[in-house]
Order: sequence, then structure tokens, then C-alpha cells
Amino acid sequence: MSPALKIYNTLTRSKEFFEPIDCRNVRIYVCGPTVYDYAHIGNARPIIVFDLLFRLLRHLYGDRHVKYVRNITDVDDKINARAAERGVTIRELTEKTNQIFQEDVKALGCLDPTVQPRATEHIAQMIQLIERLISAGHAYAADQHVLFNVPSMPGYGQLSRRSLDEMLAGARIDVAPYKRGDMDFVLWKPSHPSEPGWDSPWGRGRPGWHIECSAMSWAHLGEIFDIHGGGIDLIFPHHENEIAQSCCAFDREIMAHYWMHNGFLQVEGEKMSKSLGNFVTIHELLHSEFFGGRAWSGAILRLAMLRTHYRQPIDWTVKALEDAAKVYNDWMRAMDGVTPSKPTEEFIIALSDDLNFAKAEAHLHILKRSDPAALAACLEFMGFDSHKSSSHDQSDEAQLAKIGLTKSDLEQLIVERIEARLAKNWPESDRIRDQLESLGVSRL
Ligand code: AMP
Ligand code: ZN
Repeated sequence: MSPALKIYNTLTRSKEFFEPIDCRNVRIYVCGPTVYDYAHIGNARPIIVFDLLFRLLRHLYGDRHVKYVRNITDVDDKINARAAERGVTIRELTEKTNQIFQEDVKALGCLDPTVQPRATEHIAQMIQLIERLISAGHAYAADQHVLFNVPSMPGYGQLSRRSLDEMLAGARIDVAPYKRGDMDFVLWKPSHPSEPGWDSPWGRGRPGWHIECSAMSWAHLGEIFDIHGGGIDLIFPHHENEIAQSCCAFDREIMAHYWMHNGFLQVEGEKMSKSLGNFVTIHELLHSEFFGGRAWSGAILRLAMLRTHYRQPIDWTVKALEDAAKVYNDWMRAMDGVTPSKPTEEFIIALSDDLNFAKAEAHLHILKRSDPAALAACLEFMGFDSHKSSSHDQSDEAQLAKIGLTKSDLEQLIVERIEARLAKNWPESDRIRDQLESLGVSRL
């Protein structure tokens, strides 16, 4: 009997038992990246958090009974602007960025979602949804635009629970003469000949951002599904508007039963920004010495991310990465040469409590001593399998080169450590061990 899964539902502001619509077809949608630039480490948070949830759902319901959809937003004004700036085509920019994103998230130990739909391949569904909304009186065409008519939906605002004034304040930033109501938002807008566009009943144009997710979730998960996830910043207006579109198009009360949101990430106590110089991409963390003077393995980044509960804000610091590296290397040492057995019930129960990683980690520290084979299985469960030997993953030539060492430098360090130990020079031996550990070499 598998333990009951509890998740915090933003819709009800409470932790609830998870009950899927169909336990043989558990469906989850997560808003994916807009592919115009390298993903930053904040973007990695929902990717890692929902990957863990995906793994847990697969464990509880069976691999074949969980469908995870994470979209790729490949039509967006930020993309157009960046392509023009770089003098490349939109397609070149989105292809390249998506490819880097896929490599980054693989390195972070994430499974491929069941489907990764692209917005540009779902324009027909977006047009269909917009037509439904117009004919049901929830949307109107004006000046080559189509807008969602917010006052036509009495329950608007149910997810964010914002007051009308707060929502208006947000919406007023975007006052436009063709809007009937201040809160009305764009479903479709005209494109200049230089911009990407598709023929539609309202002229050549392109979709608004919110309709993309309503169309892709509909196409791959149906009118109603189980879990919808994303970062906390998406609650309003993005998710609120997705709900408005999907519920009104399908005449339903609910789009998804459970809405899950990860907290925000800041870097060394500050909001990430290019001007502050603390803007960190996943790519830089993996492949350069930009953060903390060394490259970090995907496993360490993953562990550092998961060690803060997903709903809490996270402060991304060099210290937190060093701490994660220590924990990880300890675990690796404990399971050296061990064949993974099965994740323990206690571990699954901890994660099943709204992904309580702290509880799970405390249990792993116990397993480290009592049952390394179970520890190995739990780590594999959480996506550390491809990194099982990641304490060694930097010991191959290519990885060493990235951190400015050769194989003989490494061998030299190892010899020095052995000599220090023979001389019973413990401080020196420990110093070299720490240095080796920080390079990802720990089984010594
Ligand atoms: P975007 O490409 O900005 O739409 O973001 C993609 C995903 O990353 C969304 O789920 C965002 O909520 C999430 N996200 C963006 N910035 C951060 C951050 N600093 N911390 C946590 N999540 C973030
Ligand atoms: Zn979305």
C-alpha cells in the first residue's frame, strides 16, 4: 500500500490529499521556459522541483500512468527583440536556446517530461480556443486584437485572491484604447510583417502568452487535469488568466484541481539581476568558475536546490553549494561499491508530505550508516542516478580541464595527500582532502 500523497494547493491555500481524476492517467502541466537566452538558476527551480514530483508520482502510480507536460514558449516578444538584437532569425535563436536548455536540465538529473510541446506548433488550438471564447461571449475582437473580457467571468481572481483594486493596479500598466475593461487581457495581437505571425480570423498575428498554456495543456492533457505548476510569480496574472481562458472555453469550474508553486530564488541575499552582477545561469554554474571560483556538478546543484523546501524562498549562495557538496560527497563515500536496493518506505513517506525534503534528508543521514544500499536507491530515486559516480565526474580529462587542472595535477594532489597522511600531518592531509572533495574527488 503506497503512502498517501499530500500537496499544498495554492487554490485552497491548504495541504490536501492528492486524488487524481484517473489513477491510470495522472496528468501534470508545468509552465516551461521562454527560450530567448540561457536559463538562470531561478528557472532551474521549478524544473528540479517538479521533476522530483514527477518521479514521486511515477513511483506511486506507475511510470506508464503519469503524463507530465512542460511546454516550450518559442513565440514571445522577448524572443523577437533578442533575435533582432543579435541579428539571427527567431528560429535560430529558439532552436539554439532550447538545445542548451535541454542539455542544462539533463545535467541537473531531470527526466524528460512525457511531452514538451512548443507554442508555435499549437497555434491552431489557440485559434480554436479563442473562437470558442468569442462565441461564448468571453472575448471580443477589437482593432485587430482579441481580448478576454474579464468581467464576463464572475469567479475571476480565485487563484490569486487579489482584490479588484490590486488586480486593476497591475492591469492598468497596460491600458490600451481597444480594451473595453482595464483588466481585459490579450489573446491575440497583430504582427508587423517583420514579426512572426499566423493567419487567423482576426488577421495575421500571434498569440498572447497566457493562451499558449491553455491550448497546450488542452491538447495534451484534456479540458481538465490534475496538477498545474510553476513559479510563485506566475500566480498572477499568468495562471489566473489560464484558468479564466480554459474554464470559460470549456464551461467548467476547474482547469486543474491542484495548483503548486515554487518559491523564488535569490542570489547571495539579492534579487538576481544583470546590473548587480549576480545573474547566474545554469550553464555557468556547470561549466565555468563564475560562481564560487569552480564549476559545480549537476548533482550538487540539484541537491543544493532541493535542500530548501520548494515553497520557501531560497538564497543561492556559494556556502550553500559547498554544504551540499559535503553532504553529497559523504553519501557517495558511504555507498561506494554498493548496489542500490529499494527506497525505504520512510523516505517515500517523507517526500509524500508535500515534498518534505528536510525529513527525507534526515532519514538519508541515518541510512548512510545503517543501510548504504537503501541510501543508494533513495538517491537514485531522486535523480542522482546519472551522477552516481559524480564524485568522480570531474576526474576525467575534460572535466578537469574545465577547472584548469590536468590529470597529473590531480595525481600530484593525491600523492601529496598520501605523503601527508604517512607523515601524520593531519591538518595538511585534511586540507588536501577538502581540496580534492571540492574538485569532486572524494573516494580516497
Ligand atoms: P520565465 O522564463 O521567466 O517565464 O520563467 C520560467 C519559470 O521559472 C517559471 O516557472 C518562473 O516562475 C520560474 N522562475 C523565474 N525566475 C525565478 C526565480 N528567481 N526563482 C524561482 N523561480 C523562478
Ligand atoms: Zn503557463
